[in-house]
Amino acid sequence: MNGIMLQTFEWDMPADGTLWKNVRNSARKWAMLGVTAAWLPPAYKGSAGGCDVGYGVYDLYDLGEFDQKGSVRTKYGTVREYLAAVRRLRLVGIQTLGDVVLNHRLGADATEDVRVTPVNPDNRLEMQGEPEDGSVYTRFTFPGRGKRYSAFTWDHTCFTSVDWNGRDPDHHLFLLEGKGFAPDVDREHGNFDYLMGADVDVQAPHVREELFRWGQWYLRRTGLDGFRLDAVKHISAGFYRDFLADLRAKTGREVYAVGEYWSQDLQALLSYLSQVQESMNLFDTPLHFHFYSASHSSGAYDLRDLFSNTLVSARPTKAVTFVDNHDTQPGQSLESWVDGWFKASAYSIILLREQGYPCVFWGDLHGIPEKGIGAVSELPLLMHLRLYAAYGPERDYFDDPNVVGFVREGDSSVPGSGLACLITDEKGGTKRMEVGRRFAGTTFVCVLGGEKPVRIDADGFGTFSVKGGRCSVYVPRLTLPVLLYRLRAQLLRFLHLRLF
Ligand code: CA
Repeated sequence: MNGIMLQTFEWDMPADGTLWKNVRNSARKWAMLGVTAAWLPPAYKGSAGGCDVGYGVYDLYDLGEFDQKGSVRTKYGTVREYLAAVRRLRLVGIQTLGDVVLNHRLGADATEDVRVTPVNPDNRLEMQGEPEDGSVYTRFTFPGRGKRYSAFTWDHTCFTSVDWNGRDPDHHLFLLEGKGFAPDVDREHGNFDYLMGADVDVQAPHVREELFRWGQWYLRRTGLDGFRLDAVKHISAGFYRDFLADLRAKTGREVYAVGEYWSQDLQALLSYLSQVQESMNLFDTPLHFHFYSASHSSGAYDLRDLFSNTLVSARPTKAVTFVDNHDTQPGQSLESWVDGWFKASAYSIILLREQGYPCVFWGDLHGIPEKGIGAVSELPLLMHLRLYAAYGPERDYFDDPNVVGFVREGDSSVPGSGLACLITDEKGGTKRMEVGRRFAGTTFVCVLGGEKPVRIDADGFGTFSVKGGRCSVYVPRLTLPVLLYRLRAQLLRFLHLRLF
């Protein structure tokens, strides 16, 4: 089965509390488009209350239920609406993935007086001076929730470091007394355990225990199927390895997980995968940056390199491929937006090829109106092609810097399947590609790219073409039996979905 993950949010969507309702109402439509998993944004209360995108975590147990940080609901709605959205997605056969942010906390309820040591923010292995008195925001008591769901309160013993000390406002990173950074994290800045806010000490036994307990509570309370794990390169690899193992053992469920390890360095990704004993998939960040480069190089990018040092080429079964996300969209700190003209090409790559689990971004499917960015108009068609055409053995033609292509031979169990795809980042061109002898004498029509039909010769080859800066996708001409097969399949999907 050709799965599709959908990231169901973008950064700038209005903070009007309507997303959960919108997700519930869109579930059937997404299922018809071939979506099989939905990555939902962080559902718990952030320090910015009803406006927080969700990554500024304040209280993991407040899923829009308690009057905290100036609001009961989160940016996306109330806990009831969240649970209803998860239920609807699962009913229509879409796996639900919760966004899990365990690295840091923001918006503490009170300060604590503790000894701290200033650290060089650019090289966290270097202390800058002696321990000093500190006044730091590390006390979380959750007065709006009280002890509901968990009586655990957070204090300085739960964190490794903070970026703010009221007694030394000029410095910007402090290690708390008796604490050290986790060794098994990314090595940028010497040690990248610290990212923002109050850095959670996931290695402290009482914190670890509380987070393990929270994981079970979260799955039980929501019925989610799995997780998207935020900022994993800033969290002890050993922690997530144990967290997932514990959760899977205790719940008896698969608990699918994909981690965000934001790095273009394939070796860092591979090393992390081995440290977590392959207990999760990872987003293919290197591939995203290839798309980014190709779309911003005015034709100078060598398309033969598209997969070099990518996770999908090195470890295809562990790779979640994507084009853009809420962090890469315009205006964000990791902005690396794939330019519009190349979007259809990039989505053809992740949706029509055999390897990788593609993740479609809300901002591409529905647009980012706040930034004047429209939807990628070809995307629904490409998702449909993933559902009905992208099957069978693959043959690659990444043999030219400017025009590359691939074919799928189709699979006899999916009538009408098979395709040919050509991509260019420069002038148009043609390429002779082999779609297989079983197509000898048939015609492939161009469903994307506006090219003329191509007749497949007796050896199973066709000469396909693409216009400058575009992408072409060809599929076998629709026959009556194939048309009837697809109508029946769509009708069955539709009827199945209407049952709920
Ligand atoms: Ca950390």
